Amino acid sequence: MEKLLVFVFSFAAILQLAFGVGALKPNYITEEEFAFARKNPIRVNNFTAPLELPPYGTEGQVPHPRPGFGPRFWTNGQVPYTLDPTFTDSQREQVAIALNTYHEATCIRFIPKEGHHTSWVDILHDPTVCGVAHVCMNNGAQFAKFGGTCVNPGTMVHELGHTLCMGHEQTRLDRDNWIGFNTAICQPHGIDNPDFDRGLHKLYDYVSYSGCFQPKQPGVTKCGSGGPLAVLDIEVLNEMYGCNSGCQGYRYVNKNNNPSSLVQAGTEFNGEPLYSCRAYHQGDIIPGKYHQGRGECHVAWGGGEHSKFDNIEVLTNPNGANFIWVNAVNLPSNAVRGGRTNERETIYVIQCQLQSGDQTVWMPGKFIPSTGAYTSYGGQEIRCAAVQFLACNN
Ligand SMILES: [Zn+2]
Repeated sequence: MEKLLVFVFSFAAILQLAFGVGALKPNYITEEEFAFARKNPIRVNNFTAPLELPPYGTEGQVPHPRPGFGPRFWTNGQVPYTLDPTFTDSQREQVAIALNTYHEATCIRFIPKEGHHTSWVDILHDPTVCGVAHVCMNNGAQFAKFGGTCVNPGTMVHELGHTLCMGHEQTRLDRDNWIGFNTAICQPHGIDNPDFDRGLHKLYDYVSYSGCFQPKQPGVTKCGSGGPLAVLDIEVLNEMYGCNSGCQGYRYVNKNNNPSSLVQAGTEFNGEPLYSCRAYHQGDIIPGKYHQGRGECHVAWGGGEHSKFDNIEVLTNPNGANFIWVNAVNLPSNAVRGGRTNERETIYVIQCQLQSGDQTVWMPGKFIPSTGAYTSYGGQEIRCAAVQFLACNN
């Protein structure tokens, strides 16, 4: 018995020496650390404290697709990883929040690396960098490194997005329509080959680079999500990784791509069914009401009703997510995200009650937590008399 205890003590001491730290920490995030992360999600920074990112153009590793292969997504959305044991407890909390951000919004899972895994990411602490990561799944080991004040959830979500095969939207073919570059801070870098995988172009909402980008579209005051995964990034990841089951299975589809499984969200006063759509207006991506027959999306903004025929997306439910309409005053936790304001506030899909004489109907509308519930009718933006939130129960 005495011998055994000595052995245990010695074994622990040797491991502590090997790791150079006082307490042994596992090389993965524990269930307790994930429980902490679930209670502490990333919040949007206000713009006085923009998300810190590596110097523009320095972070990409292997940013180009391999000839003949193209970018590769992680098999079954599973990302085996190891965690550097030199991260402190508080840094591990930051890592846990970053990983949990993906776990909550998508079917992607960061899982502890096991011996049979042939591709994995080493999440490393490196005080000499802000953040740097290999792009997409490679063979064998690849890394995502973080150091200094960049060991924070927003920066790590950004870099791990590269690990997942997300790219920068400032390399999109149409980027010059959307942003200019403040050349005192940074130089524009190249535009991707048009054959490059389309799934790689959705990080617009992540990046601001401290004034490097100058938005061009009217109404747009900022670039970057401020830290959390942006609404559009969540949708793209769920599409890329085939997250079809449960509440991740809904899709916004361009009206020109013959969408089916539209989601009805009310009727006109004359009984015409109305579906949920969304359109871009003055920097906002706004859920509105879709007239399928004429391919028109109406959105409410700034007191008015705005008609859109181009670049409309309609909400579809091709995988049978268990949608329900919830009568509530406050936003349900399982409400469906439909868009965002230019201030990066999430906008939700609702049915909005309207009355005309003794007739009452529900019409598709938008709910912005900070300003309330609206639809549009007869050229006006109208506050809802009552609200039903689109929610998902899977
Ligand atoms: Zn990046």
